[in-house]
Amino acid sequence: MISVEDALKTILNAISPLGLEKVNILDALGRVIGEDVYAGRAIPPKDNSAMDGYALRAADTCSASETTPAILEVVEDIPAGTIPEKRIEPGQAARIMTGAPVPEGADAVVRMEDTRKEGRQVAILVAAKHGQDIRLEGEDVQSGEKVISRGEVIRPAEIGMLASLGRSFISVYQRPLVAIVATGDELTDIDETPSPWKIVSSNSYSLAALVLNCGGIPMQMGIAKDRREDLVAKFQAARRADLIVSSGGVSVGDYDLVKEVMQEKENRMQFWRVAMKPGRPLAFGMLGDVPCVGLPGNPVSAMVSFEQFIRPAILKMMGHVNLFRRTIQARLGEDINKKSGIRHFLRARIQKDGDLYTVVTTGDQGSGILKSMVRANGLIIFPEEMTTVRAGGMVTVQLIDDSLDFTQKPGY
Ligand code: AMP
Ligand code: MG
Repeated sequence: MISVEDALKTILNAISPLGLEKVNILDALGRVIGEDVYAGRAIPPKDNSAMDGYALRAADTCSASETTPAILEVVEDIPAGTIPEKRIEPGQAARIMTGAPVPEGADAVVRMEDTRKEGRQVAILVAAKHGQDIRLEGEDVQSGEKVISRGEVIRPAEIGMLASLGRSFISVYQRPLVAIVATGDELTDIDETPSPWKIVSSNSYSLAALVLNCGGIPMQMGIAKDRREDLVAKFQAARRADLIVSSGGVSVGDYDLVKEVMQEKENRMQFWRVAMKPGRPLAFGMLGDVPCVGLPGNPVSAMVSFEQFIRPAILKMMGHVNLFRRTIQARLGEDINKKSGIRHFLRARIQKDGDLYTVVTTGDQGSGILKSMVRANGLIIFPEEMTTVRAGGMVTVQLIDDSLDFTQKPGY
């Protein structure tokens, strides 16, 4: 049996980032960019007006006020998107809209509210400062400047920046194909009529959803019967994927064949059993050259061990540097106990209470109680050597809910 840390280290060592692919910038949302982006143009491309108003020479308005306005001749109208045709000479102004290029000769814009239109002239009611309300060429981005670095995660802001630079495609790390193999003679698929001795392979769906959630592409391989040949065939087909995840058949039962197949021929099993609960009977190895994690079959064990080992692996494949869920410190609302020696992950609900987080378990912690996951937004990490934490003590909680919802779940 190995520690959670060693298991994680072994798995991550066997995983490398995938190659790059070119995608449309909107498809890059949430993905890691594989190139440095340099601006091919300045933003803004030309000096332009930050206000609707009048472009003028500041010197013409140095003594202007409400009672002694500067009267200027309006020589041109410059709507946004047009090019000014006239140069502004002393005593002149141009009516200008926000975003329109500032004409030659002008060095300030006075906003509409500080002016009064008087036929073909305008009265300027304030003294303008040199440069006022002009957005300078390149004030956001200079041509040639590096704006996004390789390895950054693309968010809406980066997409806006890429668009403004005229970049519609960028290189990002590929999304891994993750094969999901359910095992068990008792399993049936979602649409079959369940009989009392069959259960729906919920893992096929919860695991696929977890894969999607961290950016991978799930490849549903269906259900393997608890027979060697069937498992071998499913694993063989799964080797098209970048990562194989199986569930069930990895414990000590008579029909638990995953370990056996993971040690055959060119396959190599690197470890079996991790000092954690739920999720102890977990196997990892290589099926040929494809990493394969054999998750335990119980629905909660499968999900909790996915969170600990497979999510970081998928994120690493996708070029991410931050591989781990955030943890917070929270005040425990009940006593918790366990034996020393292995790490427990307790399904729990965190609530925010002013500046403080409080946390309680979500009831029965059996590894088949999926309801405890449905209600949870975090996992209390109960360390190996610890045996008791009393109500009121502080615990570390891993946040597993991307929505960061710290309210009570409705209906409970
Ligand atoms: P196993 O490790 O194969 O003995 O499975 C442990 C428990 O998990 C058994 O009660 C199985 O019925 C259950 N189980 C295994 N695979 C799945 C699955 N794909 N979906 C839901 N439950 C499962
Ligand atoms: Mg089984």
